[in-house]
Amino acid sequence: MKKSELETMRKSFDTVKSRSNSIKDSESTKRLTKRVQEIKKYSFENKDELFNQVIDSFKRNGIEVEFAKTSQDALDIIDGLIDEYDAEVIAKAKSNTLGEINLKNHLKIDVVETDLGDRILQLKKTDNKPVHPTGPASHLNIEDITGIVNESLDVNVNPDAQEIMRAVRADVLKRLENARVGISGANAIASEEGSLVMVHNEGNISIVSLKDLHIIVAGIDKIVPTLEDAISIVKLETIFATGSYVTSYMNVISGPSKTADIEKKLIKNMYGAERVVVILLDNGRSEAIEECLYCIGCGNCIVHCPVYNAVGNEFGFNNYLGGRGVAMSKFIEDDETCFNSGLYMCTLCGLCTLNCPLSIPTNEILENMRKLSTDVGFYPRAHGKIKDNVSKNDSPY
Ligand code: SF4
Repeated sequence: MKKSELETMRKSFDTVKSRSNSIKDSESTKRLTKRVQEIKKYSFENKDELFNQVIDSFKRNGIEVEFAKTSQDALDIIDGLIDEYDAEVIAKAKSNTLGEINLKNHLKIDVVETDLGDRILQLKKTDNKPVHPTGPASHLNIEDITGIVNESLDVNVNPDAQEIMRAVRADVLKRLENARVGISGANAIASEEGSLVMVHNEGNISIVSLKDLHIIVAGIDKIVPTLEDAISIVKLETIFATGSYVTSYMNVISGPSKTADIEKKLIKNMYGAERVVVILLDNGRSEAIEECLYCIGCGNCIVHCPVYNAVGNEFGFNNYLGGRGVAMSKFIEDDETCFNSGLYMCTLCGLCTLNCPLSIPTNEILENMRKLSTDVGFYPRAHGKIKDNVSKNDSPY
């Protein structure tokens, strides 16, 4: 990342920190935090039962459900669905899971980001990795964004947030006029009800969910027992990610769009999707350390991480940023990816753990991973030289 981008990112992080401080310390947030910790622990300990239950619940609700062991499995399922609809353009919502499976690079059709920050990064074309799970373009200042939008959309907007938003919105809506397929992730899944919860401020997930086919790709770690539990999780995520109590929109999807208003005959596709297909993704999660799966995706760890603040999104893996992203890369990919994602960049300071609402001990996880990584030959060359010197000369030098 460029120096100016890092500076803009740090300023954006400071804004989130000051906005969220009072809410984070309130008694109600403390109670919510405790509740979510219990929900995540219970969900991990009962993951097999919840997984089986949610499949039954989805089927009962008329939601189609698929299981993807790997990214490739998920992409194959998506390819098949897109072929069925002969789609040339699809509407996409912001999702770390879709980033994880590399959806955009895989699909050879027009995948239109509907989230403003993600769309700006998409228009940027190069160096367009997000810097925060809910504020993907927090590193770009308004002049940068104006240049990107004017050049890629062939418009002439001023460096004014309203003007930029209108130009991007008009272009996105025009491109999606004839789209029949929408794709998104989910913030949490309620097993008992078979409901998927998605939060957003822009209203864009509503656009995605109104297409004929709505594909939802979500990690198996998103499954929790009930809708109340799922709402608790997204509420805590919102507080820690944005400093607000609640987002403008919270979509709860529990089935396709349907009506029985004409002679009580059930028909689908009134306004929303005629088909909702959920792809439950494992992709290393069943091998992952329990605490890694507690993550609710608020991004508060990277906001406080000194390494992330210094180097930005090169510390992390794919859309999974910072130390926790490095840890997950070992399970999603392998030891080599984990090493290359910044396993040895971490200072082990523990600020991520202190600022994580789930107290994920990322520093301890990374410290243990370093030992395992060394055993399989991935360690900094300088460390290897010191080790050789000690064994040859009884001295590190
Ligand atoms: S322990 Fe590592 S990942 Fe966590 S805040 Fe410190 S430097 Fe960042």
